[in-house]
Amino acid sequence: MSNSDDHDHDHNAAPMVEEISDFEVLEVAVRELCIEKGIFTQDDHNQWTEYMHTLGPLPAGRLVAKAWLDDDYKQLCIDDPVKASLAVGVDWVNSMPSKFGTPSDYCNPRILVDEPKVKHVVVCTLCSCYPRPILGQSPEWYRTPNYRRRMVRWPRQVLSEFGLQLPEDVEIRVADSNQKTRYVVMPTRPEGTDGWSEDQLAEIVTRDCLIGVAMPRADRKVDDKRHVHKAIHPYGH
Ligand code: FE
Repeated sequence: MSNSDDHDHDHNAAPMVEEISDFEVLEVAVRELCIEKGIFTQDDHNQWTEYMHTLGPLPAGRLVAKAWLDDDYKQLCIDDPVKASLAVGVDWVNSMPSKFGTPSDYCNPRILVDEPKVKHVVVCTLCSCYPRPILGQSPEWYRTPNYRRRMVRWPRQVLSEFGLQLPEDVEIRVADSNQKTRYVVMPTRPEGTDGWSEDQLAEIVTRDCLIGVAMPRADRKVDDKRHVHKAIHPYGH
């Protein structure tokens, strides 16, 4: 190596953060145009954004718990998910704070009922469609191209990467969301939950169970802290 190489800084530094995407530029442009045209105000937009961030997966977990205990309600979940959602406090038609709703969020919700030999999992291959009114914001990984393109090709392998190893005789059905159809998975009720109340059952239906990349377990609650293993060789010992 010559001395001049030590001070060769001609290469470009990598950006510290992801650059804004074309979609984000488009979103800002359309939003500003809508405000300028009086379609909605900046306050409306702020209110809407804050409202969306208050949503989470609890209503969908409650819906599953109710269905596990009540066959009639389970049938209603299959036949009329909009009506079934009312029982867990989610009104897909009238709940929007702006009162005019948004076409992207009022859509056709569907509940996919797992069976012992049939496992459903949800993806949006095109973008990131997600049943936000009942499940809140999607996790970051759900929106990644990696998840979206691989789940439809190698679902068994991708599920195993989430820690869900399914026997070969379990059929996996991947549901591809779109602008009008949003899916929630109703997993099978796990062993060890006989005699549990609705509240107890709702506590084990995590967000990942409702997307389909995990299965509920009697020993894992929604708000459990992640298990952190102690270091094998702690510093200073
Ligand atoms: Fe999408």
